[in-house]
Amino acid sequence: MLELKQLYQGFREPETIARLAEQIKQQAELVKQRDPAEKINIMEVCGGHTHTIMKYGLNQLLPDNIEFIHGPGCPVCIMPKERIDHAITLASQPDIILVTLGDMIRVPGSKGSLAQCRANGHDVRPIYDPLDTLQIAKDNPDKKVVFFAIGFETSTPMTVVLLEQAEKLAITNLYFHINHVLVPPAISAVMADPAVRVNAFIGPSHVSVIQGSEIYRFAVDNYNTPVVVSGFEPVDVMESILRITTQRAKGEAELDNQYTRAVTPEGNTKAQELVNTYLCVREDFRWRGLGPIPESALRLRDEYQHRDAEIKFADILQHEPIEDHKACQCGDILRGLCKPKDCKVFARGCTPDSPMGSCMVSSEGACNAYYRYSGVTENA
Ligand code: SF4
Ligand code: SF4
Repeated sequence: MLELKQLYQGFREPETIARLAEQIKQQAELVKQRDPAEKINIMEVCGGHTHTIMKYGLNQLLPDNIEFIHGPGCPVCIMPKERIDHAITLASQPDIILVTLGDMIRVPGSKGSLAQCRANGHDVRPIYDPLDTLQIAKDNPDKKVVFFAIGFETSTPMTVVLLEQAEKLAITNLYFHINHVLVPPAISAVMADPAVRVNAFIGPSHVSVIQGSEIYRFAVDNYNTPVVVSGFEPVDVMESILRITTQRAKGEAELDNQYTRAVTPEGNTKAQELVNTYLCVREDFRWRGLGPIPESALRLRDEYQHRDAEIKFADILQHEPIEDHKACQCGDILRGLCKPKDCKVFARGCTPDSPMGSCMVSSEGACNAYYRYSGVTENA
């Protein structure tokens, strides 16, 4: 019988990685010969790629004119404190059960985290599958159940399937606090920063499974940057870097798809239609580190306002922006302006066990990846 290991083994082979590293060096050398000062600054927008890079030490295999810059592609990291406070305020109500995904419960808002809220006796339930929320709502007819929905284009369809089921089954005690965000406007915001150093992108591939690779064409056209949609295995990432470096060596900027085993140019159109039936684009959304970005997130369509927790509980939710702790540099990390180790409290005041910022909490966060894989120890 075919084992799972056999499916990915080829994508982790040290010889293949070493061969790709050699080819990258050759292409990077061509870039250097043309202009010794030219740098290839590749933003891996997605936190999943950051983890592959750090876990397999891919950054150590690259020549000195290539640098990785970590981007805003983790839904937990980019959540501003005021939205986390919404979740805590809702969860603190005696008649509300707050349901959300994984890491979200550990991220600090201005009043602690959902985990602390839970420890104080409030009903906060972390889940892996949004559809589990249906059963929670059915089992607790005397409570209001709020699904605090987070994630990029990848996870939005799962929220929408939950919503569709709630409508079909006429479950009236289920509400949605929608925090689904969009990758293309975030890329535009990164590139609009006058301090930006990014000149190539590894495109988030899970997002592209749903939305298609073509959603990144604007980045190639508007900023003359290569974009390669990449798989998550180390060979995928190295091959994508080779494709980017080859483009740069030729002076080209193209949209390329390395992850053809899962991504098509148009994506999953059925999932897109389903999302558009229930959700529409918000005027703007404040991202941690990037500030307000127009049309960068989704909300429930007006027809589904009866499910909208932001409307139903409007009188107890505050919308004032809340800034991060002064010492925390998550904002600069998410904008690609600095690295986790540049933060003064990295591995000192801020560790995965006692995180000060979201980039350390989230398993997809850049600080968490650096902490886990670069051999630092507490108080280092
Ligand atoms: S949500 Fe998708 S794009 Fe974002 S960090 Fe996770 S895998 Fe990457
Ligand atoms: S180390 Fe901690 S405080 Fe510093 S940027 Fe990362 S998450 Fe924020």
